[in-house]
Amino acid sequence: MEYLSMLLASNAIEFPKLPFGPAVSWMLAIMFALSILTAVVDKATRQKRKRRKRSPAPKKAVTTKRTSSGPKSDEAILSAPFSDLSGAEFERLLALYFRDQAYTVKEVGVGGSDGGVDLVIIDKRGEKTAVQAKCYSVSNKVPVQTVRELVGAKRNHDCILTLLVTTSDLTGPAKAEAEQFKVEYWHGALLEQKLRSWGKWQPGKKIGRQEAAAKSEIRKAQLEVAAASTSITCGKCGAPMVRRKSKNGEEFLGCSKFPSCRQTKPI
Ligand SMILES: [Zn+2]
Repeated sequence: MEYLSMLLASNAIEFPKLPFGPAVSWMLAIMFALSILTAVVDKATRQKRKRRKRSPAPKKAVTTKRTSSGPKSDEAILSAPFSDLSGAEFERLLALYFRDQAYTVKEVGVGGSDGGVDLVIIDKRGEKTAVQAKCYSVSNKVPVQTVRELVGAKRNHDCILTLLVTTSDLTGPAKAEAEQFKVEYWHGALLEQKLRSWGKWQPGKKIGRQEAAAKSEIRKAQLEVAAASTSITCGKCGAPMVRRKSKNGEEFLGCSKFPSCRQTKPI
């Protein structure tokens, strides 16, 4: 520092002779240096931004939906048969149901990667239940692994009680496991009964306008699955493909393991 001031005092650093003193010259020099620095920084950030634009974030795995429409509104969920609901929409239906039964509901597993628990429902006493929801076709029963996952994951959510809700049923081993680990479960018929007595769930709403022969879209879908089994197997998991109809009325082949496998194929 002493050296620098000595230099300054002795005027050892020569500036071009300008009509102002060394102090002003120094200021100009500093300003000049600063302007270069800002220009460099500016350019660097612009390049960074460009690079970010060129390499967009990796896309999330695209899940094939059965229909082209986006996620359903709550109203649409309440008037749709199970067979028209995605896993997330089914979870939403249950969330709406439990909320009306005076539970506080946390939707913890929104959209698939649920780690065994989809909802945590909390009753008035503060007792927490871990809920796993499986929207399966009737022929596709919930396997024992699902029960184990739920039992294993309940502690992550600070729950003691567990409830497995499915539109189909549990396999034999799954039932045995559920009884052993005190997992309460609602199979399809029990679930339907509970939802109907709730009153807000009216999957027949739209059907009123349709022909009288179509009493229940669910029944129709079940029959369709049974009748529509094809010899074509799923390219992804090897299960047989079944004929399905989209809401637009277009027929297509869908994996019978839906929704755990969402493979589809045009007919
Ligand atoms: Zn499949």
